[in-house]
Formats: sequence, structure tokens, C-alpha cells
Amino acid sequence: MNRFVESWRLMLGGKPYKPAPEQMTEAARELHAFKRTPEQKRLRIAAIHEEFEGEYKGSYKWHYRRWISIIVINLIFVVSYHYDVQLVEGALTASRFVGFHMADLNAALQVMLAYKELLINLAIGSATVLIVWWLVGGRAFCSWVCPYHLLAEAAEWLHLKLAARGWAKDHTFDRRLRVVIYVVFIVLAFATGYTVFETISPVGILSRFLVYGTWLGLVWVGVLLTIEIFYSRRFWCRYICPIGLTYGMVGSTSPTHVEYDLAKCLHEGECRRVCMVPHVLEITKKGYAPDTRVAIGADCTRCGMCVDVCPVGALTYKVKGLDKLL
Ligand code: SF4
Ligand code: SF4
Repeated sequence: MNRFVESWRLMLGGKPYKPAPEQMTEAARELHAFKRTPEQKRLRIAAIHEEFEGEYKGSYKWHYRRWISIIVINLIFVVSYHYDVQLVEGALTASRFVGFHMADLNAALQVMLAYKELLINLAIGSATVLIVWWLVGGRAFCSWVCPYHLLAEAAEWLHLKLAARGWAKDHTFDRRLRVVIYVVFIVLAFATGYTVFETISPVGILSRFLVYGTWLGLVWVGVLLTIEIFYSRRFWCRYICPIGLTYGMVGSTSPTHVEYDLAKCLHEGECRRVCMVPHVLEITKKGYAPDTRVAIGADCTRCGMCVDVCPVGALTYKVKGLDKLL
């Protein structure tokens, strides 16, 4: 299947599958066969043992960069509002950056559906944001800007600690739920003339809290984080958030992506263990990659956790047209 179609299929909740040999490139088929030879199997297993017994614990390079990015971007809104700098006006959902209108794409869609008209400022803001996020990689918004992501990462860390002691369990849901929720909020905005999703979006709630101090919605954010700590790992981002889906669509043809190198991979699965959307990394399983180099799909948040954790450098950031930039 075409990689673009497959990337959308996965993003919309389709199940990953192991491709048949005829769905692979010849180079991938040869490499899979080579990796299955007894000598290569022995070397691979020895390398995995060495990895787990050795000093390698992964790096935090991209973690730290992302955390700084989220904090700095959200602080700019806060500082600009409180000290009247007028660099940025507004909050994450809708703002003006040095006079340019910017609008969160999902919020803009909801507003236009609710008002049932094309609002020029909003359309200009959306187009600007669309170009920016297409360039930097769609769901990069999630891991590099979204304030909820930072809290959800802390909740996920706690969830994993509790789960390791048997005090919490990860309940999974059908990922198609996110598409249903997406459609429901679109219909609700159109039918009620009110941007219903914005009242429960933790992204908007947190951004408005940081900038204007409106705290009531924090109770809802607390409920979501409690669910994620005790009941379902990354529940909101994995199964609900329409914003993540919107940016996923935007980034589906983005030049910025994470690239997988089949030749280097040991298939031990460290990357899938840390990833918020592990279905995009199914191709790292033994015998799954359809090509020797594969761009990770549109649902990838470009968070870099897999890049940080992979001991053999099989996952790297790539920007199409710029050779090995990072
Ligand atoms: S899925 Fe939604 S809440 Fe989660 S990081 Fe992305 S925008 Fe933020
Ligand atoms: S594939 Fe890698 S970069 Fe993409 S979301 Fe998963 S861990 Fe992050």
C-alpha cells in the first residue's frame, strides 16, 4: 500500500499489519532475509544482551529541548500579556504574533462552523499556522508547544511507575474513537453555533489559565490527568483530542519527519516502549518494514523520544531536501 495512504489509515485508527513480501521493496525483502540468517540472528541477540547489560540508558537530548520549547513558547504569551509587550496577543487558540493573526486550526474550524461564515482574519491566521506546522511536522505542535503534553508526560511517568508495582493498569481503547469524537465536535459546533470542544479542551483551558488566570477549567484537567495516571496511559492524546488529529493531517506530507533505518535496527522495541503513539512504530518489528528506510507516519508527534532511546541510531530526524540535518 502507498505509504501516504497507509499513514492516514493508521492515523484514523486502522490496525498495523505485517506486509506480505510482494508489498515490500526488493531491497527490504533482501535485508529481512539477510537478518534471518543464523549468523545474523546470533549477532543481533548478542548485541541486544550487550545493550541491556551495558551502560546505555538512552539520552534526554530531545526531551530537554522539547520541554524548554513548551515552557518558552507558553511563557511568551504570559509575559507578553502581563507586561503589555504586544509581541504576542491572545492565547494558543487564537493570537496575534507581531501583528500577524494566528489561529489554532481546530479552534478556527470550530469557530467558522459555529458562525457558518468564512471569517477573513481567522482564515489568514489558519493559513499562516497551516504553513508553519506543515513545514515543522504537523503533530510537532503536540510535543513542542502544547502545555497539556508536558503535564501528560509527567502523568505518564507516574502511571508507568504505578503500573510497574501493579497499582495501576493501562486500559486501551479503539483508536477510531478519536475520529468519532472529531466528527461529533464538528457536528456540535455546526448545530449549536457554539464551540463546544473549546470548553473541554485542556489545551485551551491551560493556555487561558496561564495567560489570563482563569482557573475553573483546571478541575477538568485534573480529572483527565487522574484518568491517565490510574486508568489509561495518555488517554486524552491517544483516544480523544481532535487537535492532535487535525495537526496529524497537516503533517502527513510534511518535509520534517523521523526516519527509520532497517539496516541498523535490532528490533528489541525500546522505541515502541516510550512512544505515545506506538502504532506508528510497528514497522520497527522484525519483518514489518516495507522499505529499508521509512518515514514514520503522520500520527508521529516528532517528540524525539524514540530517537533518544534507540541505542543504534536507527531512528533519526530528517528534513526532506536537507541531508542529515540533525
Ligand atoms: S493530542 Fe491534544 S492535548 Fe495531546 S499533545 Fe496533542 S494537542 Fe495537546
Ligand atoms: S515515533 Fe518517535 S518521534 Fe514519533 S511520536 Fe513516537 S517516539 Fe515520538
